[in-house]
Amino acid sequence: MTALPLVLDAPRRGKPPRHLADLTREEARAAVAELGHPAFRADQLARHYFRGVTDPAQMTDLPAAAREALTGALLPGLLTPVRTLSADGGRTRKTLWRLHDGALVESVLMRYPDRATVCISSQAGCGMACPFCATGQNGLTRNLSTAEIVGQAVAAAAAMAGGEVPGGPGRLSNVVFMGMGEPLANYPRVRQTLRALLGPAPWGLGLSQRSVTVSTVGLVPGIRKLTEEGMAVTLAVSLHAPDDELRDTLVPINTRYKVTEVVEAADAYAARTGRRYSVEYALIRDVNDQPERADQLGRLLAGKLAHVNLIPLNPTPGSPWDASPLPAQREFVARLRAHGVPTTVRDTRGQDIDGACGQLAAADLGDDVGVPALAVPTPTTPAPTLEAPVPLGAEADV
Ligand code: SAH
Repeated sequence: MTALPLVLDAPRRGKPPRHLADLTREEARAAVAELGHPAFRADQLARHYFRGVTDPAQMTDLPAAAREALTGALLPGLLTPVRTLSADGGRTRKTLWRLHDGALVESVLMRYPDRATVCISSQAGCGMACPFCATGQNGLTRNLSTAEIVGQAVAAAAAMAGGEVPGGPGRLSNVVFMGMGEPLANYPRVRQTLRALLGPAPWGLGLSQRSVTVSTVGLVPGIRKLTEEGMAVTLAVSLHAPDDELRDTLVPINTRYKVTEVVEAADAYAARTGRRYSVEYALIRDVNDQPERADQLGRLLAGKLAHVNLIPLNPTPGSPWDASPLPAQREFVARLRAHGVPTTVRDTRGQDIDGACGQLAAADLGDDVGVPALAVPTPTTPAPTLEAPVPLGAEADV
């Protein structure tokens, strides 16, 4: 396994054009006034934007003469769909987006009977270098702007509202930061995105705090900052090993922030917000799925306001690793539960569309950067997964 360097500071590249979603309400009103229009037009633009309306012709509450100028200045198209793949009878849809500079990111919309969740990207690529993750293996291209992140959720909300997903028109209820990138390494933009996701109309999508999940590799200073924000979103921590020796190799940032520090920071978040955090653990055959490690993880988390979300590894091409077989998964679950730790296993949504973690973008980058294009994985055990429990589990709450 090649060891990639950790990259905490994103390369500086040309900024995407300014967008309404990058601005606070006050800034947007000032920008509209500067263009010679009454400030309240900013609220009208915001209402259209968050409803997914991009065609100026549909903005009938704006004077015809102002529509093109205002949308041109404040609602530039930032995300161009390159490809959409569907699975699960159309209820899982993965979109690959091209950004203004050609960078590629992806988001996945998953509709369940009781909710619709979009998994969004916060960076193009990722600098965290986790060896089992397709995105991590391709390195960090750049941070996304707020509007580039928010736009993925807005597109999902519009797809749901517009009845594009089988099951009739519906509402986007959940957002998870589990696409490409490390959200806490792009902190200011992610914080502003959270405000847009949680904000009421016309300046937001009006989602509830508990239905938004920020998943982090364990950047302790970022977890501490998030704790101070007073936004009780759900925190997910990608632990993947209960001991530093193994975690140093699976999650290289562990060489800087150790298991106990990460868990302490998550505990402080839970204490402050009253919200149970989620511990992500990719089950990798014979690497981190031993019964002793389940017990160690159980002892680490017993009595804490935490629950474990086990993810059978979705093997990436070229990786020597595989998902844990079902009996090992069951044993792991049983041992954690014996320690009183609530535990669920994620389902296999999107497995035939490279539904996990940067694989679609990695496949598309294949020709450009010399990595082999990805084959669709054909796992022998339940594999990828973005969320939701299989019957093994009980109560996934993202
Ligand atoms: N940077 C964030 C978001 C990453 S993706 C984080 O580290 O949490 C969301 C989850 O998918 C993380 O827990 C990540 O470790 C996990 N993941 C990445 N690649 C995977 C793979 N090949 N199989 C299973 N889970 C994977």
